Amino acid sequence: MSVAVNVTSSWINGAPVTTAGATHQIIDPASGRPVAEYALATPADVDNAVDAARQAFPAWSKATPAERSAVLAKLAELADEHADQLIAEEVAQTGKPVRLATEFDVPGSIDNIDFFAGAARRLEGKASAEYSGDHTSSIRREAVGVVATITPWNYPLQMAVWKVIPALAAGCSVVIKPAEITPMTTLTLARLATEAGLPDGVFNVVTGGGADVGTALAGHRDVDVVTFTGSTVVGRKVMAAAAVHGHRTQLELGGKAPFVVFDDADLDAAIQGAVAGALINTGQDCTAATRAIVARDLYDDFVAGVAEVMSKIVVGDPHDPDTDLGPLISFAHRDKVAGMVARAPEQGGRVVTGGVIPDLPGAFYRPTLIADVAETSEVYRDEVFGPVLTVRPFADDDDAIRQANDTVYGLAASAWTRDVYRAQRASREINAGCVWINDHIPIISEMPHGGVGASGFGKDMSDYSFEEYLTIKHVMSDITGAAEKGWHRTVFAQR
Ligand code: NAD
Repeated sequence: MSVAVNVTSSWINGAPVTTAGATHQIIDPASGRPVAEYALATPADVDNAVDAARQAFPAWSKATPAERSAVLAKLAELADEHADQLIAEEVAQTGKPVRLATEFDVPGSIDNIDFFAGAARRLEGKASAEYSGDHTSSIRREAVGVVATITPWNYPLQMAVWKVIPALAAGCSVVIKPAEITPMTTLTLARLATEAGLPDGVFNVVTGGGADVGTALAGHRDVDVVTFTGSTVVGRKVMAAAAVHGHRTQLELGGKAPFVVFDDADLDAAIQGAVAGALINTGQDCTAATRAIVARDLYDDFVAGVAEVMSKIVVGDPHDPDTDLGPLISFAHRDKVAGMVARAPEQGGRVVTGGVIPDLPGAFYRPTLIADVAETSEVYRDEVFGPVLTVRPFADDDDAIRQANDTVYGLAASAWTRDVYRAQRASREINAGCVWINDHIPIISEMPHGGVGASGFGKDMSDYSFEEYLTIKHVMSDITGAAEKGWHRTVFAQR
């Protein structure tokens, strides 16, 4: 499946628009060659997109749940019909292995759309009751308005779906800015949504850089909520821009997931799980296993086992279904990862396998395991966002939990044990939005995703994500019909 070389620059009010920004080339990181080019949007396009979303909001928010559900169900159907195109675009712009795009990114996105097509019809307020005795109180949950959303490059389609679809299901209209290096699948999603019958202006895409277009969108006065997925540093800038107008934000930020292996764990399962959890999407995954923390008795065997599995990983052409690991997103990012690994030995780390740039044309890097890493070292504390796993031993269960929580992040974690009490204790005491037991990475549309601490706040996926896109309104209706209400005498006496 080939990829179009000219990409629509933005999608505003139900149609492609030609924007006046600089021409931007999308580079295939597996080859370093351009795969497409398009004109970036400008802050003026952001104004137009927000205006379109504002105009479209009243009618879409008043559409019945069944009407909104029908559009989303049709969108899921169209996305499925266009799965080959979505897979080809995702592989071309990110370099992710076609197996991952085919079995994870695209079907996961379609399932998420499908889930919200159903969930749209289950939205409700709360049962009424007479709390004061003289009034019926009820709770209405109403669409919050225009949602501005900004997404990263690592899972471009899934991140767009996670933000846009629950907002649409809730009755909001949306303006999304994807990362400028990976806009293709977000634009295709918007086109398919229009084909599915979504009214013009409900789903708008502005492509463009963070500094101008991203800043303009995050700080726009006419949006109601700003949702963001990306780095912690940028997330805080987005929050500050939104705060100027007092707008709500939701932030899905970085991670540094611990992977805790207790001494009773199934060692083979833990080794297998650590490699899969660390290398998914070339390690460019906010929930990726990055800090293995292993019982001292199992430590040497774990290190040897992970190194052996990692050494057999096939790195190369992402279009080849036999490829396990694609390139990093860019040469600049590959060099950043390589720099962090190169500095690790100065800080006590021992590179057991990997740490090398293979002789391939793209931004590739071999899977890397760094043992004995110091708790203070950069590669242990900071997000690497590459195919790099660190490993440290722990002395006892308390030390394991302490090390797991020794991070500013709190997005995801896993604990490996056959002891039900340890599993329960770890799931309670590890500070993260998700704790897996004897696995690491699986996500599911019905369950929420989102972090604590420097990993942000708020939820994507599941019914919980609706809270980001709804406001709660209390309606209090007098049921006495009396001109003189009981409480009036607290203000004035009848004379
Ligand atoms: P990034 O923060 O650099 O960019 C994210 C988005 O913000 C892009 O669209 C970018 O153009 C835009 N942006 C940049 N500067 C901006 C500004 N000043 N104002 C407004 N928008 C701006 O992140 P990235 O490099 O694209 O993605 C990798 C990061 O995303 C990692 O930190 C990763 O952990 C995180 N991530 C988190 C989750 C999660 O669910 N928590 C999921 C995926 C990725």
